[in-house]
Amino acid sequence: MADTVLQVAGLTRYFDVSKPWLNRVLEREERQFLTAVDDASFEIERGETFALVGESGSGKSTIAKMIVGLLAPSRGTIAFDGEPMHIQQGAAMRNLRRRFQMIFQDPFASLNPRWRVGEIIAEPIRTFGIASGAEVEREVARLLEVVGLSATDAGKFPHEFSGGQRQRIAIARALSSKPEFIVCDEPTSALDVSVQAQILNLMRDLQDEFGLTYLLISHDLSVVRHMANRIGVLYLGRLVEIADSKRLFTDPQHPYTRMLLDAVPDLALSGRRRTPVTGEIPNPINPPSGCAFHPRCPHVMERCKREIPLSRPTATGTAACHLLEDAPVA
Ligand code: SF4
Repeated sequence: MADTVLQVAGLTRYFDVSKPWLNRVLEREERQFLTAVDDASFEIERGETFALVGESGSGKSTIAKMIVGLLAPSRGTIAFDGEPMHIQQGAAMRNLRRRFQMIFQDPFASLNPRWRVGEIIAEPIRTFGIASGAEVEREVARLLEVVGLSATDAGKFPHEFSGGQRQRIAIARALSSKPEFIVCDEPTSALDVSVQAQILNLMRDLQDEFGLTYLLISHDLSVVRHMANRIGVLYLGRLVEIADSKRLFTDPQHPYTRMLLDAVPDLALSGRRRTPVTGEIPNPINPPSGCAFHPRCPHVMERCKREIPLSRPTATGTAACHLLEDAPVA
């Protein structure tokens, strides 16, 4: 039976991007809102890697920040292990926060440059009361070894390490609160290609060893293919398709997913021609009517300009496209 660990329903976040009041009065302008995430719903099962993909500005990182509590949703709910997150307070919230961690894109920016590595990793251990006294040092040494570094690295500063090693330190810090769920926001995109695979393989090994669940945010489809069990495709803040990873790559249902996949280099050398992604993402302050993808869609119909397509079951998962409404679900 499915064991859902995270449940996101109708998640929406908009930002007030209006000019200051006086400018609005003088220029006779209305307030303006940017909808970064619009009515996103998905579930993540315990132990799986669920990836969110999409072009820059699609809302992936905004969803990640709402899940870890760095941003409040404008609407919608997030539940962890069946507990709604926004109503937790005090000790319950603290315990919930311990079970969540995040790995950021740039390990140098996420590690305090004035702290030694040992202090960086020890901070969550002390904050969450996981160990005390000499046990903290032992736990730091253990975590450094778990991520492929040496216990003696605890005395060094972050600038003494390479980018890949810094990401290992960030992973050790994320693991130090003994989390069950880790949000990984573009964890390898700031790294050299030569070390990206090492970090991804480390993340997979740690997932097996500690039974972790990952939400992976990435614009890189080869990373997502390597890591994810299921994938959600975002376009202009809306989830347009969710499918099992293998099936998404072999049988994409939504025209936008197809466009993204057609742009990926043909690693299997099957002779397929690569088609670059065409058109620009529209301005999210003033998105297109109906299906937001319609100005770029090769299958656009009149109806697409008027009606927002609803997400519905497909042969491979769910997708939101008027073309799929009459398609049989296998
Ligand atoms: Fe294209 Fe219409 Fe489907 Fe949108 S709803 S993806 S415009 S066919």
